[in-house]
Amino acid sequence: MTITTLRRQLLAGETTPAAILGKLAGEISARDGQTGAYLSHNLESALAEAANADLSLPLGGIPIAIKDNINVLGQPCTCGSKFLENFISPYDATVIRKLRAAGAIPFGRMNQDEFAMGSSTENSALQTTRNPHDPARIPGGSSGGSAAAVADLTAIAALGSDTGGSIRQPASHCGVVGLKPSYGRVSRYGLVAFASSLDQIGPLAQSVEDAALILQAIAGGDPLDSTCLDAPVPDYLSGLNDGVKGLKLGIPKEYFGEGIDPGVRKNVEAAIQKLAAQGAEIVEISLPHTEHAVATYYVIAPAEASSNLSRFDGIRYGHRAANPADILDLYKKSREEGFGPEVKRRIILGTYVLSSGYYDAYYSRAQKVRTLIRRDFENAFQQVDAILSPVAPSPARKIGGFSDDPLHEYLSDIFTLAANLAGIPGISIPCGRTDFDGGKNLPVGLQILAPHLGEAKLLQIAKAAEA
Ligand code: GLN
Repeated sequence: MTITTLRRQLLAGETTPAAILGKLAGEISARDGQTGAYLSHNLESALAEAANADLSLPLGGIPIAIKDNINVLGQPCTCGSKFLENFISPYDATVIRKLRAAGAIPFGRMNQDEFAMGSSTENSALQTTRNPHDPARIPGGSSGGSAAAVADLTAIAALGSDTGGSIRQPASHCGVVGLKPSYGRVSRYGLVAFASSLDQIGPLAQSVEDAALILQAIAGGDPLDSTCLDAPVPDYLSGLNDGVKGLKLGIPKEYFGEGIDPGVRKNVEAAIQKLAAQGAEIVEISLPHTEHAVATYYVIAPAEASSNLSRFDGIRYGHRAANPADILDLYKKSREEGFGPEVKRRIILGTYVLSSGYYDAYYSRAQKVRTLIRRDFENAFQQVDAILSPVAPSPARKIGGFSDDPLHEYLSDIFTLAANLAGIPGISIPCGRTDFDGGKNLPVGLQILAPHLGEAKLLQIAKAAEA
């Protein structure tokens, strides 16, 4: 059920967009009761769009599932939050407009951690999503619904968002491909903001080629997002099969230290060996500021979140508390009732690091360390074409595992956060299975990182690794 295969079948007249949607609806009723990836879906309006699908377009007739923090006109956009449980989008995000222009059909609203804060999808206030490889386990997060559906074959491909790993980490845990584009490559207009200097939208798919097809459709400048770059969008498909012969691939020594599950290490190292066998030159490199990435991210992201989420005041959007004493009471009660515990924790953290007296010690210092982290990558990319690492230190853990230990959960983001801080693209591709913590055959992801706007080469290397 890859996009590539379905497109061939559509063009050969062997299937129709309506038949594909009907098949998906059947798979969803068969399995999603257990997996819980979908918060809702729009079969009726999707079928109406399917009837007019233009098959000559690159994604003509292909349904794409959408994370529930990306606005689609007339559909819910809950962000996994009670606050927005009854919110209906008044407009299409730019990525949705672009997907439609490429012929795709937005279909389904995918569960996520509330406001994309988390790495397990357990922070959704609305429902539990389970890993299709083992229902006792998390799918990862925050784009857990998007990843689980693609793995469960209840979606062909999906959009997610990645602020610190939220596309790559669930892709890794669910055994699918997940691509976080460079900062500025894809418009954020219509993505509900978490941390605006880090957020990017990207695809989760069953193959590298499918991810490339979706990126091709959604990349490019946007006058509605001033941080979105006008840089020309290269052809992501033409060089996809060029292989890795002669390319230099860097292995950061800081990413292979203690704390990695042995099964993850073994599979990632095996993937590196296979790329070497295909002719890549493997080079050890250093990213010396790696150990500060978690602290830096967990200052900057909550700071931006505390500012972004101030718009949820009970007046303009979403939940409004009943019978407030006055306007201040309305703000307080609406936020108290509408936000879950992790979102409150981030708002409090962010408010603290931005407050006078602490701003210099935390926020502005974190910005300086962010620059050092970015320079680590700039230096590394003087020597190598791309960097290889694990996506997460261990495979998917059990549901409920770390619910009372947020710091431990934050530390598990160690390998993915730096790409967002540096603004560079990263992809997770499946690289084998391992037994972990009583679970059998759990997927492991290989992360590939490339220089800013280096998506073409990134996808080319990913394609070789996938093969
Ligand atoms: N796990 C990280 C966090 O909780 C990243 C989330 C994301 O990328 N949206 O902030």
